[in-house]
Amino acid sequence: MARYTGRFAPSPTGPLHAGSLVAALASWLDARAAGGRWLVRIEDIDAPRCPPGAAERILAQLAACGLLPDAPPLWQSTRDARYARVLQDCVAGGLAYPCACTRRDIDAALAARGLAHQRHVERPYPGTCRAGLGGRAPRAWRFHTEKYQSNMPLAHINKGPAATSSIAQDGVRWHDRRLGAQSQDVAAQVGDFVLRRADGIWGYQLAVVVDDADQGITDIVRGADLADNTPRQILLQSALGLPTPRYLHTPLVRGADGEKLSKQHGAPALDETRPLAALAQAAQVLGLPAVPDATSTAQVLALWVQAWRQTYNARP
Ligand code: GLU
Repeated sequence: MARYTGRFAPSPTGPLHAGSLVAALASWLDARAAGGRWLVRIEDIDAPRCPPGAAERILAQLAACGLLPDAPPLWQSTRDARYARVLQDCVAGGLAYPCACTRRDIDAALAARGLAHQRHVERPYPGTCRAGLGGRAPRAWRFHTEKYQSNMPLAHINKGPAATSSIAQDGVRWHDRRLGAQSQDVAAQVGDFVLRRADGIWGYQLAVVVDDADQGITDIVRGADLADNTPRQILLQSALGLPTPRYLHTPLVRGADGEKLSKQHGAPALDETRPLAALAQAAQVLGLPAVPDATSTAQVLALWVQAWRQTYNARP
């Protein structure tokens, strides 16, 4: 069996905040509880959204909290050639197609089907360009979800650590270690998703799936806001012949307004001069014991590794 390898994969659009530390701490604890490796990947593909110095600040914040990766971080901005090859392979295999639609085109096509635009409700891509561009200029590249899913033989089981995930014509089923049994009909609910955006930036799904495989990730522990991306990633892993890792999505930290804490919502940066206070807050969200008096970061992390092992039954 592949050696446990976990990761924390922040987008350096700003410094770490209380919400992102929860995902970092949980993935670190899970790796340590399993006696595995823990890696950090800087997801800086969307360069215009990544201010200079933000990634370095994140690494310094993690280090102040005692969360040190076992290898130098992988930077997505160095991986262009690799992503381009994967897209080429998808095109050659009939799994990706160019799309000329603007957001307005998509809205109009969906409205014509009676699917009105609603805030926070994701609507599937209507498939306009699946049959060709009709002379329009290509903008983005999309994955042939519809075709891939509907051509699935009955209950295809993915290979990899998560032997419990499967793909069938009615969608993807997988097991989340905290949330339990999950399923999504990706073709109906998401449709043909973007592999490369109209602005030339790589799609999150493509980059994350390729990097997780290349870094040998066996276990993904991340925030619950990303849980509904998992079935898209499982489809892509299957299409590219890559293993499917195990998944655990951690609880989200919500602000006073009930919204998920995020940089976009102005969450304050984590104060790396007071790492124990920051860690204690993250640990509380994860249901871990409170920090005993006069403890060091290293001591409290060791205590939480034990507690984590009991809760999530990680292999020692
Ligand atoms: N880079 C993504 C984020 O910061 C996380 C990606 C992942 O963990 O799969 O939201």
